[in-house]
Amino acid sequence: MNGLFGEYGGAYVAETLVSNLNEFDRSFERLMADSTFIDEYHTLLREFVGRPTPLTYLKQLSTASKEGPAIYLKREDLTHTGAHKINNALGQALMAKKLGKERIVAETGAGQHGVAVATVCGFLNLNCVIYMGAYDAERQRMNVQRMKLLGADVKLVHQGTKTLKDAINEAIRDWVSYADTTHYLLGSAVGPHPFPSIVRQFQSIIGKEAKEQMIQAIGGLPDYVIACVGGGSNAIGMFSAFLEESDVKLIGVQAGGAGLESGHHASPLLVGQSGIVQGMKTYVLQDDDGQILETKSIAPGLDYPGAGPEHSYLKDLGRVEYTSVNDQQALDAFQLLSRKEGIIPALESSHAVAKAVELANQLTGDKTILVNLSGRGDKDLDQALSAIETRQKEGASL
Ligand SMILES: *Cc1c(COP(=O)(O)O)cnc(C)c1O
Repeated sequence: MNGLFGEYGGAYVAETLVSNLNEFDRSFERLMADSTFIDEYHTLLREFVGRPTPLTYLKQLSTASKEGPAIYLKREDLTHTGAHKINNALGQALMAKKLGKERIVAETGAGQHGVAVATVCGFLNLNCVIYMGAYDAERQRMNVQRMKLLGADVKLVHQGTKTLKDAINEAIRDWVSYADTTHYLLGSAVGPHPFPSIVRQFQSIIGKEAKEQMIQAIGGLPDYVIACVGGGSNAIGMFSAFLEESDVKLIGVQAGGAGLESGHHASPLLVGQSGIVQGMKTYVLQDDDGQILETKSIAPGLDYPGAGPEHSYLKDLGRVEYTSVNDQQALDAFQLLSRKEGIIPALESSHAVAKAVELANQLTGDKTILVNLSGRGDKDLDQALSAIETRQKEGASL
């Protein structure tokens, strides 16, 4: 089977999808060897996305504990649309355009991926159809409005639980019916081969830039690199540049939700089992009958039952340490980074920041920690502030 990471990955899909995936895989190999394509992608990363994104030294947090280690952030929050998702959306949309496709379909849960796709489709003049669960759409009105303004046709899905799962089914059904003209743009390093490899490739720009910038800043590599892991695309993009550097410790942070012991979380790499989900073999949260379990996290982008297959492989190898941070710890980091450093992080990224702060308290001043700040927190203000308020009320009534 193609696209294996150890025993993980592969393509567990219906017969009708096999030829689409194979064609896409061959095209990807060809375009990756095409310097015109690569040049164009990098030009657009510079001119449209705003790359390279800066590396920021956190003065307050680095010196908070007297001889604390240096903490640096890789600023994916400063890309156009405010998160790393656009690196992949642009890469795949440009591929689709080169392959003569005129239409892009994608699904979105919280709307972040949908907005990134609608944005690049607007820019590249591609027709864009975004499937979104009707329940999700109600909770994320602003992102629905954004997608429409950017010219996307937002199709609400009323089947099932009216959330991401149902939107995925409809997007794939659309792709199967119109494969000649249509590309299915998957948003994280998940799904059947070749998607995990393609998404990794387009996100690897994060790690490449950050590695060079660290060498510029400190004359060497960081001791620790930390990123949050939902599907795992920002983490694998960052880690890819450091996997071969055995002195660099890599830490992936999953969503601990209400706490691992509560059962309400999204940490398949910590307490899941190997299984099949969304066309791939990976660690997944499932019950004894193999039914996928509900996940829970305050960060919508981490609310996902199975991380990408390469993360499962890296976990078994022991090359990356996976850990979890719960909702409350993420909210604390959300406030801390805002107050002390003037940066409002996405709730997803706040998980990585929380782990960095915890680790910094245990390390000496000669160490360096690099954190991938995957996105900005404007999208999370309502939810974060009301969660903080609820907690304060509960605290006051004790
Ligand atoms: C979607 C999202 C994530 C999670 O996705 P990965 O594929 O795990 O990177 C993390 N951070 C932000 C800001 C996101 O929008």
